[in-house]
Amino acid sequence: AHLARIEAVDEKVHAFLHVDREGALAQARAVDEKRERGEKLGPLAGVPLALKDIFTTEGIPTTVGSKILEGWIPPYDATVTKKLKAADVVILGKTNMDEFAMGSSTENSAFGPTGNPWDLTRIPGGSGGGSSAALASFQAPLAIGTDTGGSIRQPAAVTGTVGVKPTYGGVSRFGMVAFSSSLDQGGPCARTVLDAALLHEVIAGHDPLDSTSIDAPVPPVVEAARNGSVQGMRIGVVKQFRGEGYQAGVVQRFDESVALLKKLGAEIVELDCPSFDLALAAYYLIAPSECSSNLARFDGLRYGLRNGDDGTHSAEEVTSLTRAEGFGPEVKRRIMLGTYALSSGYYDAYYGSAQKVRTLITRDFEKSFEKVDVIVSPTTPTTAFPIGERADDPMAMYLADLCTIPVNLAGNSAMSLPCGLAPEDNLPVGLQIIAPAMKDDRLYKVGAAVE
Ligand code: GLN
Repeated sequence: AHLARIEAVDEKVHAFLHVDREGALAQARAVDEKRERGEKLGPLAGVPLALKDIFTTEGIPTTVGSKILEGWIPPYDATVTKKLKAADVVILGKTNMDEFAMGSSTENSAFGPTGNPWDLTRIPGGSGGGSSAALASFQAPLAIGTDTGGSIRQPAAVTGTVGVKPTYGGVSRFGMVAFSSSLDQGGPCARTVLDAALLHEVIAGHDPLDSTSIDAPVPPVVEAARNGSVQGMRIGVVKQFRGEGYQAGVVQRFDESVALLKKLGAEIVELDCPSFDLALAAYYLIAPSECSSNLARFDGLRYGLRNGDDGTHSAEEVTSLTRAEGFGPEVKRRIMLGTYALSSGYYDAYYGSAQKVRTLITRDFEKSFEKVDVIVSPTTPTTAFPIGERADDPMAMYLADLCTIPVNLAGNSAMSLPCGLAPEDNLPVGLQIIAPAMKDDRLYKVGAAVE
């Protein structure tokens, strides 16, 4: 049924870069056969899923939304892919994304944009716009995203779906193509809080193949999602997450959510986190710096695209010609910014200062979590904007992640879930819930209470 749905609507939505029709049907048949033989089935047996095209899939193309990896067929599965298969999930295909997960609109994909199912002329968020659009257009009931600065939560917010960025280190990054290694985190996307929890439990957990993976039990997310409550909880509202640039309808729905939390028995606490005003600036030094280093591996020799290999060019020229054609403008912008920020003489002034700000942000969170159990905010300052509106204005694009970025810098966990439509445009608004590291279960407890 989901393959038929994809066939019917994805020409318009463009959520998928690759639909693995044969593979999905084979996986589904294998589940049926297991059932017939009376074998034990995985926890999500037969449930279809859309996988962001940043996770390697053995034998299936993985492009990361980039021309530089066009035609590359990975010889191995990411840990997340492996875990999905072990849970008997049916992987429908790979979803569209901003190139190397750099963007907030999916317009930076080398393979064309994705439409927001609520209004196809608007963006579905990014970088994981393909996954969120697949959910919102009922092409898949579950999806996987990755969140470096907001790429799970912002698409969830603007498509009226649920997205969770687990604690940094909670889900393995092995086989997830690296953008900014100290920030990148894979996580679950779904249409309900409980569905997200069921998927979270399947993909999370320690992985010896990822040195930053946390060796501790997975927080009890499913139990929390089944027992939603905010009774007696202290919930923080941060002063810095409102003001100029926030759409009136977004603020209205957020205030209503806070009133609901109070009515359901939570105590609301005002918080001041002055360092959050510097989060965007710090992120746009740290993320490009790490990206400039991570993307050095795409040299035209090891993977995918190769240009100038005609016997007249040196290896260095082949690398240069390949990168010139293979990377899009946003990726190039970030590689140049990052290389500059890391160069000797500038390192302390830029990268060093950004790391100090990162520490201040972490401390603001730590101090806040002495007073509250979770923090809430709007997920994004505005609803989905029209495709093309911010395409030539990187600064305007970067503002989409104003409320999500501090969480990545500190390594905490956070969820976005729908909290109604903005009255002025009838488009979905997201409520963000933030919990301390390894307290991901609190997101689900609160989320299930207000869903
Ligand atoms: N929009 C942010 C960026 O462009 C975050 C992207 C992400 O989380 N992958 O970097």
